[in-house]
Amino acid sequence: MKIKENLNNIKSQLPAHVTLVAVSKTKPVADLMEAYNSGQRIFGENKIQEMTEKWEQMPKDIEWHMIGHVQSNKVKFMAEYVSLIHGVDSLKLLQEINKQAKKHNRIIDCLLQIHIAEEETKFGLDELELNEILTRVYEQCEAKQVQNDKSEFENIRIVGLMGMATYTENQNQIEKEFNHLKSIFDKLSKIPFTHNLKPNILSMGMSGDYQIAISCGSTMVRIGSSIFGTRN
Ligand SMILES: *Cc1c(COP(=O)(O)O)cnc(C)c1O
Repeated sequence: MKIKENLNNIKSQLPAHVTLVAVSKTKPVADLMEAYNSGQRIFGENKIQEMTEKWEQMPKDIEWHMIGHVQSNKVKFMAEYVSLIHGVDSLKLLQEINKQAKKHNRIIDCLLQIHIAEEETKFGLDELELNEILTRVYEQCEAKQVQNDKSEFENIRIVGLMGMATYTENQNQIEKEFNHLKSIFDKLSKIPFTHNLKPNILSMGMSGDYQIAISCGSTMVRIGSSIFGTRN
């Protein structure tokens, strides 16, 4: 019953515009079902194989979010069902997601991951790389209008940005990094939207820093250990 309590406690703190992704990586299906039975319908996993096994076993009204680093050759295993891919960090990956989505006649929503932390180990794009991707998506969109052709991005939709702050006790630093991501997101929301570029989700904040993230403008938090307990 602890999971239900934790979930209700966190939900009571979230403003209405903030979506909760329950990060269930490493946890058994029984734990996820407890969250499901308490009303949770969005789950986040960081390994495609583990997510697929859970998807197979669990009710079909669940939205599965891939929050981990994605290898291009594994996209095919989740293309049939994944709702949102948070960690898109290259053009090559975006093209592969498009290709696999097309096979299932779907449009897959994606977030572009931005590198905001001090730690080199974290994944993500810098602003220059972000702009390169956006330019490519735009060009394709225009080319399509001219040639009445299918663009290479017909089966993806960029719906926002994701980022992870440095793992630190220093609240000021975390705040600075989230504010940086928010400023990039704000710039993005000023560019003209297209059918496959509609950035309105800002995914930032985990168990240790989601309150700060929300105060900096997050619209989606990814919370694991505060719901399901610590992981091994
Ligand atoms: C594991 C993970 C989370 C959740 O972390 P907690 O600290 O357990 O809340 C959030 N986002 C990403 C990308 C993760 O890998």
